[in-house]
Amino acid sequence: MVEIETRLAKVRQRMAEAAIRVGRNPDKITLVAATKTRTVEEIRLAMAAGVAIIGENRVQEADKKFPHIPSGTVEWHLIGHLQSNKINKALELFSLIHSVDSLPLAAAISKRALSKNKCIDILIEVNTSGEDSKFGVAPENTIELVRQASTLEAIQILGLMTIGPFLEDGDDIRPCFVRLRELRDEIANLKLPNVIMKHLSMGMTNDFEIAIEEGATLVRIGTAIFGPRQ
Ligand SMILES: *Cc1c(COP(=O)(O)O)cnc(C)c1O
Repeated sequence: MVEIETRLAKVRQRMAEAAIRVGRNPDKITLVAATKTRTVEEIRLAMAAGVAIIGENRVQEADKKFPHIPSGTVEWHLIGHLQSNKINKALELFSLIHSVDSLPLAAAISKRALSKNKCIDILIEVNTSGEDSKFGVAPENTIELVRQASTLEAIQILGLMTIGPFLEDGDDIRPCFVRLRELRDEIANLKLPNVIMKHLSMGMTNDFEIAIEEGATLVRIGTAIFGPRQ
């Protein structure tokens, strides 16, 4: 499977080119390999080719793969929706949760983390496209959510996440990423406790270059690395 290595090299090159186009340092953009439906073997190959962070959508799926990857060799992020009955397990597996989109969820995570004497890093997921099918807080409610979540003891908010609309034309996707960046800047200006607005998690296979041009620090890429999902 030289393929994964080759595809990954191509992805990294496209990431760097997008960064350079807008005068950004390519080193400031981190790849999260989105590994839903991928096997442990595929994950190992990606790691061998330099992947340092893997993003899983489901707690249960990550939990199955986790024992097969030597601990400490890769960072695990949760990029999919988190159900409250999976919070304990999520706290064991993941170093960053990208998908917190309500105060009750944030509060439940904080409460569980506190009981484990932990503090967990999170991102707030924003539904910038307004599509009904998507999770995420509405853009107009994001600042209030961050303000309230910042008072919780055992979470640290490290930025915002969004999933772009599935549209062909990049010009229709870009405004969503611009919106996320503007929200990030507004929130950063508030200087809230426990809030460090260092991350914008945005960009997938079909739109990561646009996301990088608009300020992404974390891109979540699956298909371009591993090929089409079955
Ligand atoms: C699947 C997924 C990705 C990666 O999608 P690709 O189009 O395969 O690159 C990124 N983020 C989330 C939240 C996903 O569910």
